[in-house]
Amino acid sequence: MTALLLALGGLALLLLVLHLEANLLGRAPEPGLRVLMYHRVGDHPARDTVPVAALERQLDWLRAEGFSFVTLTQLLAHRAGGAPLPPRPVLLTFDDGTADQLEALLPVLKARGLPAALFAVASFAGRELEYGGGRERFLGPEELRELSAAGVQIGIHSWSHRSLARLPPAEVEEECARAFAWFAGQGVPVEPVLAYPFGAYPRVPPAAREAFFAALRRGGVKLAFRIGNRVNPLPLATDFELQRIGVRRADGPWAFATKVRKGRRKAFA
Ligand SMILES: [Zn+2]
Repeated sequence: MTALLLALGGLALLLLVLHLEANLLGRAPEPGLRVLMYHRVGDHPARDTVPVAALERQLDWLRAEGFSFVTLTQLLAHRAGGAPLPPRPVLLTFDDGTADQLEALLPVLKARGLPAALFAVASFAGRELEYGGGRERFLGPEELRELSAAGVQIGIHSWSHRSLARLPPAEVEEECARAFAWFAGQGVPVEPVLAYPFGAYPRVPPAAREAFFAALRRGGVKLAFRIGNRVNPLPLATDFELQRIGVRRADGPWAFATKVRKGRRKAFA
């Protein structure tokens, strides 16, 4: 008798789990803007480097699911004047400006005709530096111009890649204004958009956050991205706290699909 009850209990639990999974799979993704955050593309073993084949699979899956790939220009117009975004908008973003982002990433985007955004660190451009456990070459102005001409819009990732969370407002302003001025001086078309290095900014207290946002405005920033790993509700209600969803080497197709649907990797988190 006890064994039978246990079996029935087990069966009920199994049905409940199957029901929850089916619900998750069958439901359309919640409305909103997804911003995916990538770093290097290729075979580097760093956990935030995504292999070319995995990136191709992810982009093809997004297209098959009916996502519309949007640009920084579209987001700026949406925030400035309420221009509607296409259905299921997704923005692809790539950080730091490493050489692979021209050599490995651009062919993948070109083959599919997809736009993207690259957040480059101005003081790294054209140099070879210690980065992510080794030496890395960073794209110079000519290469950034080539990306821009191919539909990869350039935004800033600050001047020095220092965390902006504890800098005085005057230095925050300088980190942005100097980066914009440098790209403009090199003839690299640059959008008034910033991705916070390490996703860091002063969230509290509110007075510090507001002083920080004012410094961004003085520095020429109109939109800025944190990390946060969530879907952004539409219409977008913030200029400086747009959230991105980080994609990693370890994300298989199921983990990637879950991140895109829900933001966080855990299905019920
Ligand atoms: Zn970075």
